[in-house]
Parts: sequence; C-alpha cells; structure tokens
Amino acid sequence: MSSSSGAALIAQALQELGVKVIFGLVGIPVVQIAEEAIALGIRFIAFRNEQAASYAATAYGYLTGKPGVCLVVGGPGVLHAWAGIGNASANAFPLLLLAGSSETHLVTKGAFQEMDAITLLSPHTKISIRSTIDSIPESLTNAYKTAWYGRGGPTFVDLPADVIQGDGEKTMAYAVPEPPKAASDPEKIRVVAQLLKSAKAPLVIVGKGAAYAQAESVIRKLIDETRIPFLPTPMGKGVLPDSHASNIASARSTALKGADVVLILGARLNWILHFGDEPKWNSAVEICQVDISAEELGKNNGDASLGIVGDIKVVTSQLLNELEGWQYDTSSDFVRALKASEKKNVAKAAKSAKVDSTPMTYERTFDVIRETIDAISPVEDGGVVYVSEGANTMDKSRSAFNVEHPRLRLDAGTYATMGVGLGYAIAAHCAYNLPSPEAASGPESSRKKVVCLEGDSAFGEDSDAWLEMQRNTIEGKSKGALRSSSLGWEVGYENIAKMCGGKGYLVRTPEELAKATEEGFKANVPVVVNVIIQAGQAQKLEFAWQNNSKKAKKDS
Ligand code: ADP
Repeated sequence: MSSSSGAALIAQALQELGVKVIFGLVGIPVVQIAEEAIALGIRFIAFRNEQAASYAATAYGYLTGKPGVCLVVGGPGVLHAWAGIGNASANAFPLLLLAGSSETHLVTKGAFQEMDAITLLSPHTKISIRSTIDSIPESLTNAYKTAWYGRGGPTFVDLPADVIQGDGEKTMAYAVPEPPKAASDPEKIRVVAQLLKSAKAPLVIVGKGAAYAQAESVIRKLIDETRIPFLPTPMGKGVLPDSHASNIASARSTALKGADVVLILGARLNWILHFGDEPKWNSAVEICQVDISAEELGKNNGDASLGIVGDIKVVTSQLLNELEGWQYDTSSDFVRALKASEKKNVAKAAKSAKVDSTPMTYERTFDVIRETIDAISPVEDGGVVYVSEGANTMDKSRSAFNVEHPRLRLDAGTYATMGVGLGYAIAAHCAYNLPSPEAASGPESSRKKVVCLEGDSAFGEDSDAWLEMQRNTIEGKSKGALRSSSLGWEVGYENIAKMCGGKGYLVRTPEELAKATEEGFKANVPVVVNVIIQAGQAQKLEFAWQNNSKKAKKDS
C-alpha cells in the first residue's frame, strides 16, 4: 500500500464524505489540504476573514441539509472562526470546522499559531477531536456525522502540522448515510390529534427546523387537508408559500394571542416567539411542540407533556394519518378575528409602501425593489434568494417580500448575528448555483439570484436608544456629531463594488432605485446599490455579487 501526505488523506476523506465545497481562509500548513481538495474537484471558496467563511459554511449546511465545511489556520484563525461555531450552535445548523495547529511535539513551547483549540471549543461543539495521521478518516467521519445526525450543530477537528505534513496509509473510509428519522410514540400522536380536533382556535407554527428538515411537502398536505391557520417564523417563510390562503402571518399578534392549541413544527419558544409567554400568548394555550431534540420540549413554557420527539417529516405524516377526514371549521370566531386583523394590517402596509418622500422610507424602498425584481423574476418562480440583516431592515423586509418556496430567505437568525449577510449570500450562491448534483433542494435547484438587503444597525432607527440619541442631538447635547454607530455621512458603499470589478449606484429617489435595481439584477458582476433613506433612518446599501445580483442595504 502506498503512502500519501496527511493533507491528501484529509482531502480524500472529505471527498468520500461527499463534500463538494469548502469555505475558508488558508495559510501554512492547511493550504496543502485546500490544494489537495481542489485537485480532487472540491470547490474551495476563499475568504479574507475566517468569521465570514465560517458564517458561510453554516448557511451552506442549512441550505443543503448537510454539514458545511470550513477550513482555517490554527490560533487566530480558530478564534475568528469561533463566530461560526456560535452561530451554528445557536441556529442548530450543521458545521464541520477543520483547523491546523502547531506541531504536536512543540505544543506549549510557544510554537507558530499555537493554541489549545480543543479545550477552547469542546464546550461549544458537539464533538472536538484532535486527529493523528492514522485516524484521519475516522476523525473526519465522526465529526461530520456528529454535526449532521440528531440536532444539527458544530463539530471540530484539530489537525496538527505534523499530521498534515506527515505520511500515512490510506485506510477504509466509512459511509455516512442520511441521518435516521425518528417517528413518535403513536399514543402521543393520538393525544395531539385529538387536541387539535377539539380546538376552537388551532394554529400551526412553521419554523426554520421544518425548512432544514425539507418537510415542505408533508406540511403542505397537513395545512391543505386540515385548513388550520399557520404562521411562519422569519426563516420558516416559504416552507409553505406566503400566498397560501391559510397563512395568517399578517395577523401574527392576533394569532398568538388567540390560539388555544398550537402545533409547533421546527421552531423554539425563544425570543422570536416571545418565549410562548403571556401577554403575547394566550395564558391557557396548549403547546404541542415537535422537535428532533427532546431537551427542547417544554423548555420555556414549562410543560413538556404535549411535546413530540421525532423528525418533522415523519411526525407530520403520522399526524396527517390520525387527522384524516377532519377539517377545521374556518367560519370560527378565531378565523374571523384573524381575517379582520390581516385586512387592517395589509391595508396599512400597502398604504405606507406608496408614500413618497425624499429621502425615501424603508417601506417605499422595499416596495420599489420588490416591484422591480418581481417584474423580472416573478416570486412564484422562486428564482431569488433573499438575505436580510440589520434590525429594522430585517424586520420590515420580512413582510415586504413574499417567499413562495422553502429555503429562499436567510436572516440574522436565532443569534441575531449581524454581519452574517455577505457570507450567507456567498453560501446561497454556492448552494444553488455551483454545478453539483447535491445542490440545495430548492425549487428545481435552478440558478438563483441572491438579493441581499443589508441594514446597518448603526442608526437603530426605532429603538428607544436611538430616539434618546436623537433627542440628545436635538437638544444640542451632541449637536452635529456622528452617532456612535455611524461610519460617516453618506458613506460611499457603492464604491466597494467598483473596487471588485462590479457596478455601484448611489440613489435617492424611487426612479433612481428602480433603474439601479433593474440594472443590478440583470448584471453579471457584483452590484452595490447604496440607497439614501429618510434622515434618522439612515442610508442603505444594496449589494449584488458575481453573476447573482445580491443587494444589500446598509444604513450608516
Ligand atoms: P426558528 O428560528 O424558525 O424559530 P429554531 O431554530 O428556533 O427555528 O428551531 C428549529 C428547531 O427545529 C430546533 O429546535 C431543531 O432541533 C428542530 N429541528 C431541526 N431539524 C429537525 C427535524 N428534522 N425534525 C424535528 N425537529 C427538527
């Protein structure tokens, strides 16, 4: 048996695991791994900051339903990529982080980029392994599988320089089949189905766990057959089309307050869902939460008795069987209240979207972008991935842009991590557009444009803190000063695109914005549209990248 370098063995193991893309930032000695991987046909997407690379890998894991892989150097590289570990852990996204480290015999001697990454990352990962030259396939396979099986999360393999640069024999690789899918105890299914049937105001909440589980077909069947109103979480949008008649997202508060039995499919009762608590929720609500992680059940509302442990696809299909022939009576008071609230909110949003002012408002800005893009790529075709971050931008764009297919909307997520956007946009491009049989399973996995709406939380427009700052300014306490969150006045973000061989636009009016959005969307280069919006609300920037227009808006 001939021997190979550790770097070649690592690349081979990744190839055998089915890895198609590696995100990272390389230096000595991990550069050899990247080069060996490229030679095997794996795409290496190079970044200039490990943080963005690790964020990209987490989103790639979410979109493709398999671990995203990130490769970095040791020491500072690991510290920067730690951000991705936190992001993967909070969002339950599968991530395999690989990092170099100093030679085994030099540990504790002050070696190049020396750091005890295993001790650092063990508490924050599902598993952290230091590989030897002989255990490369086992270490990588174990870490890859652990990131993927059960609830998704981060894992780590530490690769000392002498392992990467050493020689070893190729050993048998282990196959890692798709994770097994657990069904629920049938008795629990009967209890929950009975409860739903007897509910006056039932509600289904669809979270990003359902999107990650790729459970859209069976959830669609559940809603179509039972007619229970549903509500998507921000990244659960698109699992069912936003245009679906049972979607009551526009009456979110009324739904949460009025529902008496709630079936949660792949969402946690965290800040995004107001912890399942009063006053946002009905105090007498019965919550039936379906989750792959048993520990999650009853976490915040304190009652796990109606929790169901299992895979969303399997459990939803069990529930469908049990509910067969039953349909919720949508002439109920609950649905009437939802429709009334929806009508009011939709009318209000439609009105504010058309209010012209100079500078423009958020609502007007999003309306122009949406109309322009829709005219080129109709929303039902699912040809656009929206990435959105920045407190106000994320919030307001959520309702301004419909999503009709799953996994086409990424935002700051569970961790509310601002700064993920551009890494996510690159991940979306890789997941949907790189030639790969394993491409993300969106609608037909056809090529997609990536539109990135980036708000710089610098101006934090609606928050009390911002109002306080504004008041202070008005009262002359800091008159004329830049806010602590500002980069400068009308920062020329559009020049970033020009710098990278793309196009940049600075726009102030709806007409200018429509023109720039259309040109940017059709372009095959990075495009940044910097949109100046209402004073106190800040300027925004749209970003488009490569042959997918991605547009980001930055407030500054
Ligand atoms: P959101 O941000 O949309 O509210 P969360 O990230 O809070 O969603 O929750 C997603 C949940 O989905 C997690 O608790 C995760 O364990 C769960 N989950 C992920 N995949 C599956 C699956 N295949 N079956 C059941 N639950 C899953």
